Amino acid sequence: MELGIRGRQAIVCAASKGLGRGCAEALAAEGVDLVINARGAEALEATAEAIRGRHGVAVTAVAADITSEDGRGQVLAACREVDILVTNAGGPPPGLWSDWSRDDFIKAIDANMLTPIALMQAVLPGMIARGWGRVVNITSQSVKAPVAALGLSNTARAGLTGFVAGTSRQVASKGVIINNLLPGIHATARADALDEAVVAAQGIDLAAARAQRAAGIPAGRYGTPEEFGAACAFLCSQHAGFIVGQNWLLDGGAMNSTL
Ligand code: NAP
Repeated sequence: MELGIRGRQAIVCAASKGLGRGCAEALAAEGVDLVINARGAEALEATAEAIRGRHGVAVTAVAADITSEDGRGQVLAACREVDILVTNAGGPPPGLWSDWSRDDFIKAIDANMLTPIALMQAVLPGMIARGWGRVVNITSQSVKAPVAALGLSNTARAGLTGFVAGTSRQVASKGVIINNLLPGIHATARADALDEAVVAAQGIDLAAARAQRAAGIPAGRYGTPEEFGAACAFLCSQHAGFIVGQNWLLDGGAMNSTL
């Protein structure tokens, strides 16, 4: 299927690895020029070079912390006209409800709620003026089904979801489409870190921890960044103009519900 976005310009945040990179690769495969971001310059440059080589699109790499105002400014300044925005950042650490201080909550809310909101506030006026735009926020399965140990994530992402629910309906008539993608367990460095937490908590080896988590997924395996990126590219496509304010759960069937 031709997605109809060749020549568009996209910002993909937190994209040197994992799900962000999967989205960047899938957009590049459709001919979209990219600004990609992560904090670590070396891995980011290597990813940018790999994407340029594979897809022949322009890729600008901006090494910066997207959760800081300065970092967001650098990323936004690198893209002349933002047609597509994919928001993403690292997830908060796991823990117990009683562990977290006000500062911990502020940090998580800053990274996983206020950062994507600030980015949307920055790009929406231009998208509205040009009559076309796509925003995909990478959130988490924890929005629909809480992951008990990820209370900081559950909290911050619920706030972002509420903002998107209202805002997406305010801008849809202008050709600007905002949706969220909710990853379940995907094979990335983040999943490795959560597997290691299971190893530490249960005293089992890594393979056993992975098998245990995969057994809870009807698909019988972790998702891949490539599958995730393909869903993102579709939501950024010409065909997604009637999909507004949705929360697509990509979890291999892990959340047991009828609707
Ligand atoms: P990942 O493989 O660890 O990759 C994270 C990427 O984000 C890296 O490129 C990292 O590069 C960049 N990054 C992290 N913090 C950043 C910041 N402050 N500013 C700019 N870039 C930053 O993680 P992932 O699995 O792709 O996860 C992406 C998001 O999905 C996270 O919020 C995670 O919580 C959520 N999620 C993932 C899963 C899963 O199973 N993988 C499930 C549910 C939710 P640098 O470190 O160099 O900055």
